[in-house]
Amino acid sequence: MPSSSRRKVKIVCTLGPSSSTEFQIGTLLAEGMDVARLNFSHGTHEFHARLIGSVREAARKAHRPIAIMQDLQGPKIRVGALPKGGLELKAGDTLLLYPEGSTPKTSTHGKILVPISAEIAQSVAADTQRGARILFDDGKIATEATQVSGPEIVADVLIGGRLTDHKGMNFPGTPLSIPCLTEKDLVDLKFGMDHGVDAIALSFVRSANDVVTLKEMLRKLSPNPPLVVAKIEREEAVDARDSIIEVTDGLLVARGDMAVEIGAERVPIVQKQLIRTCHELGVPVITATQMLESMIHSPTPTRAEASDVANAVFDGTDAIMLSGETASGSYPAEAVRTMSRIAIEAETAREMNSTRADIQPLPGSTVDAIEHSAAMIARHVGAVAIACITHTGSAVRTLSRYRPETPIVAIMDNEAVLRRLSLSWGVRGVLVPKIGSTDDLFTMVETSLLAQGWAEPEDLVVITAGIPTLRRGTTNMAKVHRIGPHLGRS
Ligand code: ATP
Ligand code: MG
Ligand code: MG
Repeated sequence: MPSSSRRKVKIVCTLGPSSSTEFQIGTLLAEGMDVARLNFSHGTHEFHARLIGSVREAARKAHRPIAIMQDLQGPKIRVGALPKGGLELKAGDTLLLYPEGSTPKTSTHGKILVPISAEIAQSVAADTQRGARILFDDGKIATEATQVSGPEIVADVLIGGRLTDHKGMNFPGTPLSIPCLTEKDLVDLKFGMDHGVDAIALSFVRSANDVVTLKEMLRKLSPNPPLVVAKIEREEAVDARDSIIEVTDGLLVARGDMAVEIGAERVPIVQKQLIRTCHELGVPVITATQMLESMIHSPTPTRAEASDVANAVFDGTDAIMLSGETASGSYPAEAVRTMSRIAIEAETAREMNSTRADIQPLPGSTVDAIEHSAAMIARHVGAVAIACITHTGSAVRTLSRYRPETPIVAIMDNEAVLRRLSLSWGVRGVLVPKIGSTDDLFTMVETSLLAQGWAEPEDLVVITAGIPTLRRGTTNMAKVHRIGPHLGRS
């Protein structure tokens, strides 16, 4: 068994130019990728369509349920095209921000012209007050608005630097009213739905309502819609975190823009708060951005990066993510291998994974009681796996919440639903043909576990299921089962 399948925390890899061929994607998969992220801030539809085809093909060959997460750009405000080489900005310079493609109406005298995203300039200017801070390039360049005459903004440079094409802008402390789905996002979303993505990450979420709106939209488009993953990166979302976690299917701690918006010093605390609440409510949570950043250019990580990955595991995150490391770096396979090794090592240190013990079953919920007990039974009898036979995956997510040391195996006859479980901590999946009567169930579990090499004859496993099996959401039994001695591995 490759060591990466012992790992409980999941690995999300952003795909890009460094990971675009089926061979490269197959390598990431072999090193431990569980979820492929496509960032729709970059790349054409044609490029993403090829990536999707390659992921599906590589996953089929490896017999692994791999989820594809489409990350929508959202209302990211960007600088437009600049003169070649960019602009050298100094403290004390005055900038005129205007919609790209228009002719500025404000006097341009003594000002440096900076075009910005035309479609959202008007809305952004309407929300911006004199004195507001406007940052460029992940906060590296800082300015302050001195005059706003929508859609144009005059701003004084406080901290200078070289500003180049298409860099991102942030307005920390200014609540922006622009919706988190732009025209481009709607077009991209249609593309994602047509290509059967498993999850959709929504950027710059402001409130629970943004998540609910997208979920309703998806339900109208598909009877079995992809998961919605809310990206927490704005101050408003940090403040509204509890209500967002209550409605979302998954959460992404987007530490890049978050650090610019709320200050890097608050990020570690917010990360812990988000992970804790997600874990309590059984919502899969991904910790992201710069986890092994130096591995974009180097085959080994810094000590601080190794600690960051391990600490996210100790916090109880479901998944950890690579961005530029796999999308455009020089060492994509090494980055996944390194991340996987650090995670496995961190998981071995049981006393550090203290969050596990705290979670209690919801009073009155049968599925909670069964899965909570299954985790304890598995530990007491020394079972090699807890096999959950499930239709919707909700029993598996419930079990994952208790962070059992025993591996969780989801046994399911719906491939799309199985793929979505790749985001959940500790869950491995087996796709089986149509699930039928009770007798078949136990044989099916035995055959599946033996075929995957996850159990041997005579091993004990704990099985949870709903009887009768044809009704959904009925998990009501847990059984300790010994794999038949007559069943050798064929
Ligand atoms: P976000 O704020 O959404 O994370 P980002 O620009 O930081 O946006 P990442 O997904 O974190 O992007 O990826 C890091 C880098 O990898 C990007 O800045 C970009 O240079 C490169 N990259 C990612 N996806 C692609 C792609 N599809 N095509 C080209 N480059 C890409
Ligand atoms: Mg983003
Ligand atoms: Mg990023």
